Amino acid sequence: MDTEVLAALAGKRIEDGSHPVTAIRTVFSEMKGTASVALVHNRGHWLMLATNTGDLYRYADEERGFLLFASERFILSQVVAGLDSSFQADPLRIAWLRPGLGVVVDLRAFKGFDFPLAQEPGGPLPSLPEPQAEPIAHRHVTVEQPAAPFVHAAHADESLLRYNATRVRALRRCSRCILPETFPFIEYDEQGVCNYCRHYRPRLQQDREKSFIEQLQQYRSRDGSPDALVAFSGGRDSSYGLHLIKKEFGLSPITFTYDWGMVTDLARRNVARICGRLGIQNILVSADIRQKRENIRKNVAAWLRKPSLGIVPLFMAGDKYFFRQSNIIKRQTGIRLEDLLPAGMTYSNGTAKLYRPFLHTNVFLDQFDLRQYDNSDGNVAWSGPWTEVGEDGNPQSGNIQIAVDNGSVPGQTYALRTVGTTAVRRA
Ligand SMILES: [Zn+2]
Repeated sequence: MDTEVLAALAGKRIEDGSHPVTAIRTVFSEMKGTASVALVHNRGHWLMLATNTGDLYRYADEERGFLLFASERFILSQVVAGLDSSFQADPLRIAWLRPGLGVVVDLRAFKGFDFPLAQEPGGPLPSLPEPQAEPIAHRHVTVEQPAAPFVHAAHADESLLRYNATRVRALRRCSRCILPETFPFIEYDEQGVCNYCRHYRPRLQQDREKSFIEQLQQYRSRDGSPDALVAFSGGRDSSYGLHLIKKEFGLSPITFTYDWGMVTDLARRNVARICGRLGIQNILVSADIRQKRENIRKNVAAWLRKPSLGIVPLFMAGDKYFFRQSNIIKRQTGIRLEDLLPAGMTYSNGTAKLYRPFLHTNVFLDQFDLRQYDNSDGNVAWSGPWTEVGEDGNPQSGNIQIAVDNGSVPGQTYALRTVGTTAVRRA
């Protein structure tokens, strides 16, 4: 999505007299792809945030009159945790702007109005300060146009960069799985079915899907907040996987895309369109692309000495780092397929400790070294005991227990165990 076009479209509608909320709704209804935007107008005393994927988090302090926002909760919580202690800022007060929502903040009264992005003809619109006759600030645009940094114009064969839709459409494809004739070692039979399809035997029995869906139950969020992480390249396999996870299994995933220098414009467009349509957040992680491309160049040079189709996947080795990224993003987003815990908490089976880091050095901590819910082992005290959610409240019975840890944690006798959709909560 071209942000300049989006801003220009919204700006034109506002200049033509549209209410800013109506203007942004129209823009979102006309565009395809993902957009998470912050919008100001040079004659209006307001700030607008809007997203069709949920890639926006905000921290509003009305008393002190400031608003912070970021595309990821983790980034914003780092900023909030780094604020001077006189702000008494608490990362737990960060609010998520859900997919399909916007907020416009009246900057004079410092008051925010949430609104759905879907058109609501005749619905009430927030009253905003009258636009100024003169722009609040003048723009001084002095952007130096860099000479094309990567492609030397004299040597570029532009036709190689162009996507030849006609030729791609004319490719022969398997009538069952759509693999094209350019796929290594492919052959088609009289029905147009490829050899890969003919030799395919389903490995999973039917009832495995049912038990898989049952297993997912305990991780499913009840309020639509993110509960799964999907590595999403924008290609066919991960697009279908994302569809399954969101539409068939009903989870609420966050996606991330690892750009190691070979993510094409077409893949980026796919990522934007699918996430935009499904209302799913996308985190783009970029590697040191220059270094990665240098590695690819070396791989290709080595391959050329003894070319073989079967070794082509070697060129893709550089993307495997996405496994490590998924662990980093798991930690940052708090998404984990382990024991369920309240938001903001981390729990490690290796330590039998439950803690919440707060403002750099202070830690709320419960080591669960006693079978009770009011332990406090950190240098900051909890304000109350743990409470079981939807359970009997007894730490020695039921789905939530402080249980004998069966020796899996050296030096610890007890550990917190939760089962199914139960959880514990503590202020
Ligand atoms: Zn096939």
